[in-house]
Amino acid sequence: MKKISPKLTRAIQKSSAKKVQRPTPAQRRRVEEIFTRFSKASPNPKGELYYKNPFTLLVAVVLSAQATDVGVNKATHKLFTLADTPEKMLELGEPSLRALIQTIGLFRTKAKHIIGLCRILLDEFSGQTPQSREALMSLPGVGRKTANVVMNIAFHKPTIAVDTHIFRLSNRLPLAQGKTPQEVEDGLMALIPERFLLHAHHWLILHGRYVCKARNPECSRCIIFDLCSSEEKTSNLISAVK
Ligand code: SF4
Repeated sequence: MKKISPKLTRAIQKSSAKKVQRPTPAQRRRVEEIFTRFSKASPNPKGELYYKNPFTLLVAVVLSAQATDVGVNKATHKLFTLADTPEKMLELGEPSLRALIQTIGLFRTKAKHIIGLCRILLDEFSGQTPQSREALMSLPGVGRKTANVVMNIAFHKPTIAVDTHIFRLSNRLPLAQGKTPQEVEDGLMALIPERFLLHAHHWLILHGRYVCKARNPECSRCIIFDLCSSEEKTSNLISAVK
């Protein structure tokens, strides 16, 4: 089969990519107010995954796919005592790694990915965790979301990793609406003022995880209540009044 040229591939991607709308001045003011409140309530938000260095953060994020941070932390406290570099992880070996992470969903596949990425880190990156999205995404088990988390937390880059909480919150509030994580990510990157971008990822995840929950959003203690136009907010209040 004839291969599609890189030029044509880029043209197809460009034409099929959803155009991100420029926010209106009113939208900008609302977003500014939302993130000002988040930043006042939590000036230095932190992620909840346990890690010791960029490498262990990368491993923890790979392990956290379809698993809770609490569940991952239970396994990684012991794992990272034994192996906090790619060399030590390879010395530990896949069978021992599997045994240490067996409480985490998909542990067999994840162990394979971690051993595979350790080999690549040593062969191609001098044992260092790379900082660019392209390099991170070249590693087994590392998709765009994982790469964005590592870039943001380990290397302080202004990225937004759209997980289930950010996807729901961004569509619900709404902030940036989209059918895919990438659409939401692009919309948020265009909408959120630059000075809030470094921490936006954490503020949105924590708000989605603990306040604007999937089933029963806790609107009565929401600090952006008056800036939310979600239908779920309205029905929640009506049910509270009844
Ligand atoms: S008001 Fe309710 S629905 Fe809106 S963001 Fe807050 S918790 Fe979520």
